[in-house]
Amino acid sequence: MDVAGLNKVVLARFPSFGPNKVQELVRLAYEIAVRDGLDFVTVVRNIPAGCTAFSAVKDHLLGLRFPEGLAHGISIKESFAALKIDINAECDVKRARVIYPKKIFFERAVESSPLAVRLRKLFPDSVYETISSYKERSADFLGGPAEFNRRLDNFFVVKEHYDCVKSCPCTPGVVSCGYHNVNFGFGCPFECSYCFLQNYTNSPGIVFPANIDDFFQAFAGYAGQNIRLGSGETADSLAFDHLTGFSSGIVDFFRSYPGTVFEFKTKSDNVAGLLAVAASANIVTGWSVNPQAVIEREEHYSAGLARRLAAARSCAAAGYRTAFHFDPVFYYPGWQADYALVVEDIFRAVPRDSMAWISLGTLRMTVRQKKMIENRFPLNTILSAELLTAPDGKVRYHDFVRVEVYRFLLSLLRGRAPKVPVYLCMEPAEIWREAGLDSRCVF
Ligand code: SF4
Repeated sequence: MDVAGLNKVVLARFPSFGPNKVQELVRLAYEIAVRDGLDFVTVVRNIPAGCTAFSAVKDHLLGLRFPEGLAHGISIKESFAALKIDINAECDVKRARVIYPKKIFFERAVESSPLAVRLRKLFPDSVYETISSYKERSADFLGGPAEFNRRLDNFFVVKEHYDCVKSCPCTPGVVSCGYHNVNFGFGCPFECSYCFLQNYTNSPGIVFPANIDDFFQAFAGYAGQNIRLGSGETADSLAFDHLTGFSSGIVDFFRSYPGTVFEFKTKSDNVAGLLAVAASANIVTGWSVNPQAVIEREEHYSAGLARRLAAARSCAAAGYRTAFHFDPVFYYPGWQADYALVVEDIFRAVPRDSMAWISLGTLRMTVRQKKMIENRFPLNTILSAELLTAPDGKVRYHDFVRVEVYRFLLSLLRGRAPKVPVYLCMEPAEIWREAGLDSRCVF
């Protein structure tokens, strides 16, 4: 049934309700139906006959949708966003993924760059087009879920205008961990159902900068060099490294800046480029980790946990430092046992003295991202959890859930590696405190 049909079901039961009320009830009833494997009509039919006022109907549905939060005394004031289902948006994750762009666009300024030459050699059957600028070429592109699903069809090789590094944007009201980002491209070949890049559907393809030497030059003249920085914000740091070959040059560059700590953050095991050059102690190779069952359900096409940890072990043996990001952690029945196994696997695979830091973060997303997830990954299981909009505008688990998750993981990690810094990603000071962490002295 499409959304118009769902609206009709609610309106048939509550004909006096206006569109805003109907949209809220539709969303709540829809989420309950999906989570419980019920028919939408059944959920609406089961609303008690005594519930006739909107507030009573909503309270009834809230009780079904957020039982744990309400049991903990949480008061839910949220107005729930309209449901919008586009049946053409689903991402087909059953098909094997071969990366071979149909078209490669080269900005004129870099059409003869080493990266352009390299990509032409790797993809001789792609169609090439010279463009004056990516900005101009993508200006009218509206994009949407279906277009986002086809993003690997188009590569753009561009001249990036580096303004050196940027502080990690974080989110309002949270503790900053002092991280900085540099973007060596935009886009990712993996399909994590929760990926925040789904917020940016206005890019018609994958973007590769051909001039990272310009970044190196800018960084050489940059005053605040002694920072932690990484390249995993707008792209997985290594997923395309076999195409770009960037990693070895980055290691070689930052070797000369021992006060800077540079992190590659990835869900791949694409470390051949790193292993091809001498390692440097100020280079951190970081992996996002999750239980294998979660990886299979929600992190499509990424390397499995064993492959990630084998790559981490190789990097540690080569002399790189390592990092692990439990981010996002998912809260579901049995999560403790699954995550305890991940902790065990990490410490079995990788020497603790190689570990530069470990971060913890729980599932969070914008409202727009949530809509993308339900359209692109209708079989996801992550949206069935109790998620509400937090003061920073992100949809998150309840505070008490996040604290429980952090305390649990912290106790495991402290037991294994008391000296490795552990920090929370995008959490306010009170959550740090309740989790048992001092937000002032992590680094
Ligand atoms: S690896 Fe990161 S960037 Fe790539 S799809 Fe997953 S979350 Fe997005």
